[in-house]
Amino acid sequence: MIKKHNFSAGPCILPNEVYEKSAAAILDFNGIGLSLLEISHRSKDFVAVMDEARAIVKRLMNLGDDYEVLYLGGGASLQFAMVPYNLLKVNGKAAYTDTGTWAAGAIKEAKKVGNVDVVGSSKDKNYSYIPKDFTVGSEYDYFHCTSNNTIFGTQMKEFPEVDTLMVCDMSSDIFSRQLDFSKFDLIYAGAQKNMGPAGVTLVVIKKEILGKTGRENMFSMLDYSQHIEKESMYNTPPVFPVYATLLTLQYLEKNGGIAAAEARNIAKAELLYNEIDRNPNFDSFCVKEDRSLMNVSFKLNDESKKEEFDAAWKAAGISGLNGHRSLGGYRASLYNAMPIESVQVLVDVMKSIN
Ligand SMILES: *Cc1c(COP(=O)(O)O)cnc(C)c1O
Repeated sequence: MIKKHNFSAGPCILPNEVYEKSAAAILDFNGIGLSLLEISHRSKDFVAVMDEARAIVKRLMNLGDDYEVLYLGGGASLQFAMVPYNLLKVNGKAAYTDTGTWAAGAIKEAKKVGNVDVVGSSKDKNYSYIPKDFTVGSEYDYFHCTSNNTIFGTQMKEFPEVDTLMVCDMSSDIFSRQLDFSKFDLIYAGAQKNMGPAGVTLVVIKKEILGKTGRENMFSMLDYSQHIEKESMYNTPPVFPVYATLLTLQYLEKNGGIAAAEARNIAKAELLYNEIDRNPNFDSFCVKEDRSLMNVSFKLNDESKKEEFDAAWKAAGISGLNGHRSLGGYRASLYNAMPIESVQVLVDVMKSIN
């Protein structure tokens, strides 16, 4: 099988080994004569998957027993509502940064739960940079940010010191770079950008932050405490996405962990950004210092070359390079599983444009 060079922003490319092992598990899981898709989620074979999928996250992130790991349904989008529902005190307020479409979505949902202040925004400049000039005091119940803006292609290189809880949507750069994860009180990420197939969302929570809102009689499915108590099996979990995510994380751990992934991601992004900066046909959408290692957004300076460029990358076996409809241009997503050889194919195509 000849695979394309998949630069899609999500669902994402995964390691070949993950496709092979998860395909095999659909036919016969662990040699038990049953498919992964037909066994009980309470069976010992699946409970072992869930336990390990939760444990490996803490190992990779270097987090202790004060954190809990959950695999939930509903996408990162459901976390836009669950975060304020679980952390925003009745009559309290939360601080958000507005750095792109997803951040704005999180703000919109949080406002339905309570009071929200937008303490930093780059909306005025079409989200082409990361706002840094703000402070967040203890009058806020939590601060929410988006570490990587998938659509516009900016990324927070540093995180502010805040005087409250730190919550981060890491959907599109989770496990792509080393961070002090213990600085965060809650991290969430839809799996399908950098860690698995669509259908499951990772939530990492510092346990002690829960149960402080004064909100009573919470919906059980929206209550992190209930999911923690049931070890992420309050209801039937999305078994296949959890398993494929576990395989992806095992592959990551085996291949040098986050540190090695980060080194590969830096090399890939440098290769592409160097060409964008060097080649007079192309330009970035974003300011240099905030450019993402994961989603590289760029455009042609001369739209009359669009036909030639589009034909050339398609002929080279490249897929998923068109920019998001709200930005236009191009976007090359360089998630963990993207090999540098594929980035080189794209760079060679860019060099070939007159
Ligand atoms: C894709 C994305 C989301 C939405 O994820 P769903 O799982 O589709 O709900 C949220 N935040 C960021 C940063 C994203 O890239």
